[in-house]
Amino acid sequence: MNERYIKKIIGCATCGMRCDHIGVVSEGPYKGSTARVEFECLWALGPNCGVDRLDAIIEAIYQCDHYGMDGISTGVIVGFAMDCYEHGILTASDTDGLDLHFGNAEAMVELTKRIGSRKGWLGDVLAEGTMRAAEKIGKGAVKYANHIKGLELPGYELRTLKTAALGFAVSFRGACHLRSGAYSPDMKGKVDRLKIEKGRGKLVVDGEDLYNVIDSLILCKFSRGIYYDTYEDIAKYYTLATGIEITPEELVQAGKRINNLARVLNIREGKGTREYDQLPPKIMEVPVPDEGFAKGAHVNQKEFDIGLDDYYEVRGWTKEGIPTVEKLKELGLQNLVPIVKKRMAKKKGKGGK
Ligand code: SF4
Repeated sequence: MNERYIKKIIGCATCGMRCDHIGVVSEGPYKGSTARVEFECLWALGPNCGVDRLDAIIEAIYQCDHYGMDGISTGVIVGFAMDCYEHGILTASDTDGLDLHFGNAEAMVELTKRIGSRKGWLGDVLAEGTMRAAEKIGKGAVKYANHIKGLELPGYELRTLKTAALGFAVSFRGACHLRSGAYSPDMKGKVDRLKIEKGRGKLVVDGEDLYNVIDSLILCKFSRGIYYDTYEDIAKYYTLATGIEITPEELVQAGKRINNLARVLNIREGKGTREYDQLPPKIMEVPVPDEGFAKGAHVNQKEFDIGLDDYYEVRGWTKEGIPTVEKLKELGLQNLVPIVKKRMAKKKGKGGK
């Protein structure tokens, strides 16, 4: 890729990592197309769609940038449409003749443009995102919709990264690799990544709280592994930048407060409870088919429930995933108590909308 497409590597001021790789297509039908190429979009619009042509992937990323679309979501939506096509749920008349078999690079680019411009019935439907598109398409399309809380899955194989599966399921904005770094213990071999057991809840919570703090301080997420003593160092940065003294313990509490606040906002909107902390059918019901040590892996309901119970317990939430009044008061979020009380009352059938 570097030899044929990457023309420039750039980064933020003073950063030694410089993660921005600018790809340029120098020949062929997409000649001149220019886009920042990074792992997630490369995966989503590439192998996720069976596409191995870098010129088409760069063009599709360019189109995502042009239309202001997220490259991960767009690639997953195109892959979803391809799955539906291969399973006969979408036909050539639905696609206006577009051959949506996996691996068709031109079709992947064309569909990306149609989604961006809402062109045709299919472009318009897919522009709603995988969750709503699957509902509109019907005919069992939900089986192929890879999303959590309406956000498309990023490039992690959750059937074989099960701490990450739990982390993405409970994340307050759905399947976001920037809200949960729970793939890290899986990929570093700190846990058995092919199972969920008690103890994973704490790993997920600790990662979420740290990500909340890093994002709130507008630190680069890639910096998360470079500190000598993470919260101690970050507390010093905070004080140096603001003049306000803060302890590492207060920062940890801030991370917890953010997660609880976001959870309660979801609850207020009717979506923050256990039934929304779910995984897509493809992760729960379709075992890994390939030969190798992960063959047959998928997340089963029993281990998933163990993980959810463990996570809620560590968070100090009810079994339904609702922050308790005591927990909210402990975090100084007592103004949110009426929202959770209303929700708990609804759960008990005593009121609520
Ligand atoms: S986003 Fe982070 S890793 Fe990338 S160049 Fe900026 S500071 Fe460096």
